[in-house]
Amino acid sequence: MKKRLQDAARERPLLADGAMGTQLMLAGLEQGGCGENWNVAHPERVLAIQRKYADAGADCILTNTFGGCRIMLNRHGNAGRVAEINRAGVEIARRAFGDRNGYVIGDIGPFGGLLQPYGDFAEEDVRAAFVEQARALVQAGADAVIVETQTSLEELQIGIEAAREAGAGCIIGSMAYDVTLDGSTFRTMMGIDPERAAEFMQEHGADIVALNCGTGMDMERARQAVLRYRTVTDLPLMVQPNAGQPKLVNMKVVYDEPPEQMVTGVVPLLEAGANIVGACCGSTPDHIAAFRQAIDDFLRVRGSVQNIGEPAL
Ligand SMILES: [Zn+2]
Repeated sequence: MKKRLQDAARERPLLADGAMGTQLMLAGLEQGGCGENWNVAHPERVLAIQRKYADAGADCILTNTFGGCRIMLNRHGNAGRVAEINRAGVEIARRAFGDRNGYVIGDIGPFGGLLQPYGDFAEEDVRAAFVEQARALVQAGADAVIVETQTSLEELQIGIEAAREAGAGCIIGSMAYDVTLDGSTFRTMMGIDPERAAEFMQEHGADIVALNCGTGMDMERARQAVLRYRTVTDLPLMVQPNAGQPKLVNMKVVYDEPPEQMVTGVVPLLEAGANIVGACCGSTPDHIAAFRQAIDDFLRVRGSVQNIGEPAL
């Protein structure tokens, strides 16, 4: 039987995939378009992107369902298609692996608003939306559910509980941090620091503690976040930083860290205690291929060190 993701991640470092949103744009998705609907309308385009990540050596692929809860889909008139879109998302990610037994991680992004009393959304409506999406992902065969790009503990908790209610075999909570204006530290938009987030996730039953996206969170900042997570939790850690900062070049948004630059941060992340490494906005299959090489080299060195009786890293 296939190991649970959280168990496999403890045994050896795993590689996740790279960006989906920016890749969909490159494939022709219009700004503000419903990328999740492509799971149904253009499954071959989504498959082509995810197959590139699988071919680059990713062990885990996130489903193209970031905005796949009812509240988000409703903005595109697709609220009635939650189950269909999320099921298709899992099936495409599974197909991308071909004969390989990779991990399909069902992706749940933010619902896109603020909870009462700060905003208009009642907790029960957000909970119902997340449970509905998580159920669709798990019933379609997702190995794990990630609740990602989270900035508030309240929404994170609803997401974790929804994944549990849906019966997810592995629950990943992932926060988006922003570097503060003075550059001294980072926290989420809602003021949550990494130690608090990790403690909270552990208390609420997450199996893997993660971070993704954010502003100014390069590989070195991600490494600092991993070290800070490690002060409060022994759970496996997952990191998906952006490929640097977005810049406008010839009216197109490009991210400024090419694979050869970003890959230099991979081994330091592993040495800091990261168990799953992937990348977020702006990253490409070339980034993930470079990460594969770095992780394999790291494993080879570690293996030979162990063979001659030296302590493992
Ligand atoms: Zn991102």
